[in-house]
Amino acid sequence: MKNECFVVRDLLPLYAEKMLSCETSEFVEEHISCCADCAAEFEKLEADVPQPLPAGEEMDKMAVKSALKKIRGRMQILTAMIIIFGAVLGVGLTNHGSIFYNIVIMPIIGVLGYAIMRWRALYNIPIILFLSSMLEMFFGLLNGESVYPVDYFGMLIYYIPCAFLGIIIAALYAFAFRKEDKR
Ligand SMILES: [Zn+2]
Repeated sequence: MKNECFVVRDLLPLYAEKMLSCETSEFVEEHISCCADCAAEFEKLEADVPQPLPAGEEMDKMAVKSALKKIRGRMQILTAMIIIFGAVLGVGLTNHGSIFYNIVIMPIIGVLGYAIMRWRALYNIPIILFLSSMLEMFFGLLNGESVYPVDYFGMLIYYIPCAFLGIIIAALYAFAFRKEDKR
């Protein structure tokens, strides 16, 4: 290692953070361009220097955004769990003569479905309800009950419109609030 190298090595950390004067910077640059060892050392240093973060306000915005994203993600998981639980419960109640609970449960499933899936709820909710019916029937079979598919799937004709009602109510609410916001 040449004498100049020792000087350059001392300066490299400052050079990497662009804290040297113009003249000293030029000196380091010139040396790096023809000294492979120091150039390699510089590359190693630069990889360690943290990338400049966006300043103040921008950073706050990003922090808020990522926090909101996290909350929204958790809410969606929670809502999805409520929907699936509600669907299984709602379909399950059919077989115990409590069909009228579904007048409440199915629209709630629709509202929650719209909250996390928007219009995709229109085809996802029927799928969830269909799968719930299959699940219920499967458990019926496991319990050795005499199972009539019509009992399970026939009810979908009634559940799905109830859920759609919830979706439409939620969509109208969302539309109304968006109008409020614009004012
Ligand atoms: Zn050197």
